[in-house]
Amino acid sequence: MNIVKRFYRFTNRETRLKTQPGMDHILPSFTNQQIQAARSAKNQVSPEMPYAFLNETECDSDGALTEISTIFLTNRECPFRCLMCDLWQNTLDETLTPGMITHQIDYALKQLPPAQQVKLYNSGNFFDRKAIPEKDIPRIASQVQNFERVIVENHPLLCNQDCLDFQQMISGQLEIALGLEIIHENVLQALNKQMTLEDFSKAVEFLANHSIQIRAFILLKPPFMNEQEGIEWAIRSVEYAFSLGVNCCSLIPTRSGNGILEQLEQTGQFSHPLLSSVEETLEACLNLKQGRVFMDLWDLDRLYQNEINLHDRLERLQQMNLLQKVSTA
Ligand code: SF4
Repeated sequence: MNIVKRFYRFTNRETRLKTQPGMDHILPSFTNQQIQAARSAKNQVSPEMPYAFLNETECDSDGALTEISTIFLTNRECPFRCLMCDLWQNTLDETLTPGMITHQIDYALKQLPPAQQVKLYNSGNFFDRKAIPEKDIPRIASQVQNFERVIVENHPLLCNQDCLDFQQMISGQLEIALGLEIIHENVLQALNKQMTLEDFSKAVEFLANHSIQIRAFILLKPPFMNEQEGIEWAIRSVEYAFSLGVNCCSLIPTRSGNGILEQLEQTGQFSHPLLSSVEETLEACLNLKQGRVFMDLWDLDRLYQNEINLHDRLERLQQMNLLQKVSTA
């Protein structure tokens, strides 16, 4: 099916979903200050080391398993205040002095086994110069020269010439992970992402036109959605992302832990998705066969600790991530 036809099909389904009651009334909106006021204290993190690093295996665009070194850099907090975000927990209030980020990358790479790809995730936006100092960029580029692919995260509004310059500096393929979150416009607005769908599609077009690949982060069951809406809109969001030319999608089960979501839990406006919804959504998205789709499994063993057959079910999800097809058992 060509893109125009896919888009048409999506548009019809979106219209149908929009006519359902529940999310078309005005949703509550929270200011940055309200979101911050609900927070607990940040974790103690050091500017001298990444707050985590690990190697993981992922299915690449050719269907082969590839090793990825993922480094969670410690840096200044993201300037946005998204309603569902808990990444601020491992950030600092100040910009790091030049040399600290590159020191963190060295620190992690020295301890990690070899890998083909690297993710530099900084709990925010790689091209935010208050997070990653501009002076560090050439050195970072040389640190990742041996990787076939370099994956960073960035807000759609911060996709600019800096991204193109960084692609020119590295020998591997640059991939930028953008938070699409959800394509329901009222809910997207209520998430305080400060982004419209048009902003997202413009960022994808800009990056794709310059041969930079794109990964989209999509929320499974953000606040203000019931279980079925959460599943439906996650699937529609994946379809939408692929229709724009996104190369792969990563689904994130929305979970509380940042303060404001706990408040919304108490008023019945948020609950984390059921494990069965996690399974159903990944299955449906893989069956679209439009591109690679991953389910973020981080912390699911804690979140679903009372579920029956949890170990086997998480193992099945992991297998589906790796093989990119629905597994039966
Ligand atoms: S842009 Fe990303 S890192 Fe920043 S607050 Fe939103 S979700 Fe969190």
